[in-house]
Amino acid sequence: MSSKGFESLLGDRVRTSRLIGSDPALVLHGGGNTSFKCSVADIDGASVDVLFVKGSGWDLATIESQGFSPVRLSSLKQLSKLPSLSDSEMVNQLRINLLDAEAPVPSVEAILHAVLPYTYVDHTHADAILALTNTDNAVERVKEVFGDSVVIIPYVMPGFDLARCVAEEFPRAATSSTLGMVLLNHGLFSFGATAEESYQRTLELVAKAERYLKSSSSPQRSIKSEVSSQPVDPISLAELRRAVSRVAGHPMVLLNFRTPSITEFLGREDLESVALRGPATPDHVLRTKRLPLIGRDVEHYAREYQVYFSEYQPKAKERKQSLDPAPRVVLDRELGLCTIGRSVRDAKIVADIYEHTITIIQAAERLGGYCPLGARDIFDVEYWDLEQAKLRRQPAPAAFAGEIALVTGAASGIGAAAVKSLLARGAAVVGLDKNPIVASMSNRADFIGLCCDLTDANEVERAVIEVVRAFGGIDIAVLNAGIFPHTTKLDVLGLDTWRSAMSINADANLCLMRSLHPYLKRAARAGRLVVVGSKNVPAPGVGAAAYSASKAALTQLARIAALEWGRDGIRVNVIHPDGVFDTAIWTDEVIAARASSHGLSVQDYKTRNVLEVEINSRDVAELIAEVCGQVFDKITGAQIPIDGGSDRII
Ligand code: ZN
Repeated sequence: MSSKGFESLLGDRVRTSRLIGSDPALVLHGGGNTSFKCSVADIDGASVDVLFVKGSGWDLATIESQGFSPVRLSSLKQLSKLPSLSDSEMVNQLRINLLDAEAPVPSVEAILHAVLPYTYVDHTHADAILALTNTDNAVERVKEVFGDSVVIIPYVMPGFDLARCVAEEFPRAATSSTLGMVLLNHGLFSFGATAEESYQRTLELVAKAERYLKSSSSPQRSIKSEVSSQPVDPISLAELRRAVSRVAGHPMVLLNFRTPSITEFLGREDLESVALRGPATPDHVLRTKRLPLIGRDVEHYAREYQVYFSEYQPKAKERKQSLDPAPRVVLDRELGLCTIGRSVRDAKIVADIYEHTITIIQAAERLGGYCPLGARDIFDVEYWDLEQAKLRRQPAPAAFAGEIALVTGAASGIGAAAVKSLLARGAAVVGLDKNPIVASMSNRADFIGLCCDLTDANEVERAVIEVVRAFGGIDIAVLNAGIFPHTTKLDVLGLDTWRSAMSINADANLCLMRSLHPYLKRAARAGRLVVVGSKNVPAPGVGAAAYSASKAALTQLARIAALEWGRDGIRVNVIHPDGVFDTAIWTDEVIAARASSHGLSVQDYKTRNVLEVEINSRDVAELIAEVCGQVFDKITGAQIPIDGGSDRII
């Protein structure tokens, strides 16, 4: 039976799941799960009881009916009676009991959902519940807040062990007034006969916990540490990012935040003590690591992480493969909160989770003390078999994953194509252009467009700093912006035309290179600068004095940069395109006029090169990206034509 047949059954389940998923005070980024039980007709017409449970890989905020996996309920209940079940066998059993072979793998909490005797079940990691249960006398507090309306389950590792524990404990403790179940240090389950009832109970239980937090909080000690309110120093961010990338073994994006609640948290005199206790719910460890780095001693953090791994690894059932020892969260009284990820998206998720962690820690401290799970329990989730298997299945990262690129003249032509080529290789990209349209070119999280006049050195410096504050550094810079003045013979070439070509094609790039240098030398792996020159450098054209001379000056500038910056590990290469007709300077009229002045058809004019091929922006952009890639790791100061072969240069 395909999942399409179930759509009508799942409408309400989808609706309230999305409501839960879109409230960050209830669940964050793929956390939590929901389910629904009913009977459907099997292939032979017999009635079969089914649990529809969130499939792995789906996020409650955006789930659709095909995100719910239909599993045979009776089989799940049978499984809960086994004395033990390995993770891999559990996943195998979940899969072979699906009623739809194309459905996603059911949530690892499927057996737990199956044993709860309610039609609708919602599971969240609500902030208020986590604040309440991450305290040292959590059981009394939960009883005080909820009376007998919830069953309390002490912390058990999620998966089969938790399902089995609930299968035994829940029927003993549940009464007719049971509305939900609190899992200490983990989260909340609530139930109902309808989707709406279960959802409303989630809201009611969470609201009760929130009211309790408000009424029972005692004021905090007021001794504060100094937190900087100065603008964040971009060099410090780039150095931190470089250090983190080094210990991670690959480039990482670093995002920077300083909201009032972050500043308040960083101002706690006991920051080290409260922030180094652990995450608020175990699955956050997969995003944030168990502990943040406080300050900037990344090497020390990495050594401590390795100590943690070697301490708990031998206690695990199977051999574990160590994750990289780099932090994902950095708390620094000068820099604020920094979050780290292989992509902007990952680093943003870390930030969301940690901002909620701050709320939870602060609330638990006001109740008397934040008291999360210890290292052993967190290690078991961080190095869970199923998570390790996911890592092994992960495809190789994109070539520029974790890297940050800046492209000038990004709004059109070669610049716009370079933005695409770099994004496609996994880089986060900032596009600069004097055309404000650059700001709205893309709404991807890993792209920022900045309107900037490159001839204004102060604006350029500000833009470079903005890039570093946005993503943590700069690894790749593509100097593409340039102008092509009207064709003018030398004897009538005005100084204005000459100076404007020089000002944009040469001077502006000098200023930009000066501003970029401190960051390119602090790149995560190695700085790369690609300069878009022109065929006119090796083969100047009649009537193009200002253009050819300014591009020649730029080329010479790049060669000097290659010489001077080599010891900083920065590679500087120049590409010389010719006849790229899909750019703004080549309107149809200009192409037609030039073609007829050569006595050629437009098509023959466009392919007027040795290979008789047309060169387009994308070809040039792909070359730019490849020059930044590993094949070119040992090449600097090169000039590469991309022109289909020019008989004047060959
Ligand atoms: Zn959970």
